[in-house]
Amino acid sequence: MFRTMRSLLSIRRLAPVAIVAAVLAACVSAAPSATVPAVSGCAADSHLAVGGADIRLSFDAGDFPAAGAVQICAWTGRAAAAVSDYYGRFPVQRVRIVLKPVHGSRVRGGTTFGHGDAGEPLIVIRLGREVGAEQLDDDWTMTHEMVHLAVPSVPDQSHWLEEGIATYVEPVARVRVGQLRAERIWADMLHGMPKGLPAAGDEGLDRTPTWGRTYWGGALFCLMADVEIRRRTDNRKGLRDALRGVLAAGGDIRQDWPVERVLAAGDQATGVDVLASL
Ligand SMILES: [Zn+2]
Repeated sequence: MFRTMRSLLSIRRLAPVAIVAAVLAACVSAAPSATVPAVSGCAADSHLAVGGADIRLSFDAGDFPAAGAVQICAWTGRAAAAVSDYYGRFPVQRVRIVLKPVHGSRVRGGTTFGHGDAGEPLIVIRLGREVGAEQLDDDWTMTHEMVHLAVPSVPDQSHWLEEGIATYVEPVARVRVGQLRAERIWADMLHGMPKGLPAAGDEGLDRTPTWGRTYWGGALFCLMADVEIRRRTDNRKGLRDALRGVLAAGGDIRQDWPVERVLAAGDQATGVDVLASL
């Protein structure tokens, strides 16, 4: 895998700006306007209907006085709209989202489970008690966690695939619906992607479970796959088609799939064997 990645990286070096520019332009252009649900009357235990899904949002509004229930529902709705636009629908029909209050004013992180307490997908977000509308407007965490819903659970050693897809898709999905400026993807990729490159002694993504290789190494895999799918299909298809194919084949977070099955389902949707080869 290391050798394959090196050779693909050298392809990218031949015309890095042109190729990556074409990919990003294709990724983020021509976005349909996604529907963000009305949030008037939003309460602390609400059902949001976005992308064909029933999203149950559970929190105590008194825990987040600066943001308030309406801002929190709007934040959740924006993330759901971005993910629904990217995948053509919300990844699962039902999900419960629980907001746990923590110290501070930031979105502190999240975890997504395929089978929560009711046997349905569950997202738990740790949210600072002093969080305000500005932090929620700029947040990527909720979108990242929702992208996890669209990826089957793979064996632990291939955790990089789950995190890489979530890391790569999140900003693209937000740019497509106008929630993030395209320039931010460029800046963040320039800053973040080098952290995913193999260092001396690297044993491949499956056997190097560092933070950099898991998140940014996985995202780099996605970027390279997006470039190569577009190159081999004359820009007719991209990684989004592959990931939609995985979801259409039944591959959401509730399923335990070997990584080869995920990659094969993606390749079948694009008609080129980019994912398996990479
Ligand atoms: Zn994640």
